[in-house]
Amino acid sequence: MADQPSSAQGRTEQAEEQSQRARLEEAEARAARYKQLSFDDGNIILQADTASFCVHRSILSLHSEVFRDMFAVGNSDGEETRDGVPVLRLPDQDDELYELLRALYLPQHINRTIPMDFGLSLILLKMSTKYMVNFVRQEIISRLIRCYPNSIRKYRTRRVRAEDKNHILALEAALQHDVPVILPTVFLNCCQMSLDDILDGISIADGSILHFTPSTLKVILRGRQKLLDLQRLWLADFMPKFTSQLHCKEVREGLAQVFVSKSMVESFDMFAPLSGEGLCRACKHDMAREWWIMRADIWRKVPECFGLRWESAPVAARVTR
Ligand SMILES: [Zn+2]
Repeated sequence: MADQPSSAQGRTEQAEEQSQRARLEEAEARAARYKQLSFDDGNIILQADTASFCVHRSILSLHSEVFRDMFAVGNSDGEETRDGVPVLRLPDQDDELYELLRALYLPQHINRTIPMDFGLSLILLKMSTKYMVNFVRQEIISRLIRCYPNSIRKYRTRRVRAEDKNHILALEAALQHDVPVILPTVFLNCCQMSLDDILDGISIADGSILHFTPSTLKVILRGRQKLLDLQRLWLADFMPKFTSQLHCKEVREGLAQVFVSKSMVESFDMFAPLSGEGLCRACKHDMAREWWIMRADIWRKVPECFGLRWESAPVAARVTR
């Protein structure tokens, strides 16, 4: 009994020591990563929040109009220097600037064949938009389109599916950094989240909660209602045609129950294929055709539900002015 507090204290100290060591190791690893993008022959020091990178004006100017303009006006008398190299202070976080520079110097990291963390792709979207680095922005937008395709065929066969929390991040990023091409599909995915998650947000690893802003929440809830109505209207039209057929009548009636079940009507998974199990081949074919027409019709109306329209990808011209 008597030694309990001290052993508990020992454990706490040990845990603290461990987490301190982990933090230290992480900081060292980060510093080593940053150092890779500081060059002896660099001629401009970019100072982010705490980290700095000695890089080349020529390389940055080649890819970014914003940097080109900054360098053009930067040669004033009171210029800050470090070891004779001019310092340019930027309002960016260390990791954000690091990732942009890494994409410029080591573009193989953003090659489309390499999987990319969703968070990283949003950092790169933000930075490439801010500094007008076209090739990075285009690459990230095509990645986002693979996740949120703007055609029903690609949507049905998409291999990359974002987690629910990413819909919240993608929506804010698309609005903030001008990527209208993914907006209808992102909104559609937001509607497929549970109502609780839509209203209360989703907690993430660091303990914080990601949630929609009040204005996007309104758009989502209104759009969700409109989608439900479209789905209901379509079913009301489809169902009598489907069940009045004499062929495979019993199976048809059984399937009709499934179609109008609450879980199906409210799942918003209206673009998933139907199996039509139990129907003969001819009836299966009929049903698939009708269902396809319905989905294509609703898909066309998805953007309207959110006050948008389908945009064609990509948006290269928009970036270069
Ligand atoms: Zn049949």
